[in-house]
Amino acid sequence: MKTISMNQAKRIALVAHDNMKKALMEWALFNRDMLAGHILYATGSTGSLLADALSLPVHCFKSGPLGGDQQIGAKISEAEIDMVIFFWDPLEPHPHDVDVKALLRIAVVYNIPIACNRATADFVISSHLTQEPYERIVEDYEALQRQRVAAMQSGT
Ligand code: PGA
Repeated sequence: MKTISMNQAKRIALVAHDNMKKALMEWALFNRDMLAGHILYATGSTGSLLADALSLPVHCFKSGPLGGDQQIGAKISEAEIDMVIFFWDPLEPHPHDVDVKALLRIAVVYNIPIACNRATADFVISSHLTQEPYERIVEDYEALQRQRVAAMQSGT
């Protein structure tokens, strides 16, 4: 195991599917002062709406269906995103469902807090851990990979 340091100001990625955007905007406006203390990222359309509604800087990735979810996943794997608020739509299929699943999976792999509905987002944003530095425990996958490669090389 190893740990990844999360600073007091968390790098938070926000994503909402179209039917969930209104709920995310309401949640974000209600929590604007909390969110102002963090560094915000979002998929394209969600990010434009958020920046406008909150008057806060939001780093926008591509729109979700055009690769934005994958960009967030890549940032998580590089330890450049600390937390995800992802209001995905449980009632409608999307063309990028596989990307959604991949993002949920990679968040679990790297032990990222990920809130997928409003109540969980309330609990996450109001946790004292969100307002302080935190050492996130992560499996040392590189060490496991080195062991696997060494085992293959020695033929065991
Ligand atoms: P959007 O992407 O913010 O660009 O709408 C969200 C998504 O569908 O994953």
